[in-house]
Amino acid sequence: MGYNVAIDGPAGAGKSTIAKLVAKEKGYIYVDTGAMYRGLAIHFLKKGIRPEETEKVIEACGDAEVTIAYENGEQQIYLNGENITSMLRTEEAGNMASKTSAIPEVREKLLELQRGLARAKDVIMDGRDIGTNVLPDADVKIYLTASVETRAKRRYNELTEKGEHCDYEEIARDIQERDARDMNRETAPLRQAEDAVLVDSSNMTIEEVVSTICSYCIG
Ligand code: C5P
Repeated sequence: MGYNVAIDGPAGAGKSTIAKLVAKEKGYIYVDTGAMYRGLAIHFLKKGIRPEETEKVIEACGDAEVTIAYENGEQQIYLNGENITSMLRTEEAGNMASKTSAIPEVREKLLELQRGLARAKDVIMDGRDIGTNVLPDADVKIYLTASVETRAKRRYNELTEKGEHCDYEEIARDIQERDARDMNRETAPLRQAEDAVLVDSSNMTIEEVVSTICSYCIG
């Protein structure tokens, strides 16, 4: 069994930025489980399935093979042998992933992949249900959150810096909708595990969050 650090929290809390930096500092492998849900979402999109078509989504899980590899230390997602990493971070994939991740068969499909990685390696794994469901015995559990306003503002700045046109109110609404879907689904909803440390990054710098989390970890 590897040394396992679980980071859960709502969309836009900065989990992946923070987890990557902690991984680098401590020598762990960073596992982004959201990317796996996005990988399956690409499969559903390619097949022209809509997220409400639950039966079709479940059927499509049968011919999707999601695998993970590391190239130059960066996680790569393969879907049926094709590297689809560059397709994952679109609004379309995010939306599809947010909706289809509520389906138990979709979650079941990715569970063993996630647990297998944590058994084999020292990992910092981020997601929504890592401390509560995927790795209930993780060595360290962090619940990383920030206010909706802070998360929306960060996202707005990120997109504007990239030169993309966006609307703050729309981003805030989208974040609230994603939170509601993640927190209210029946299977493995987003919540803070009883033994997780709560870190609210609303008024913290990235460095402060990284050093707080590192202080709980060995290595
Ligand atoms: O974190 P990210 O935005 O990439 O995740 C995409 C979607 O996958 C989320 O909106 C969430 O609904 C879902 N997800 C999940 N459980 C995880 C990781 C992600 O339900 N462990």
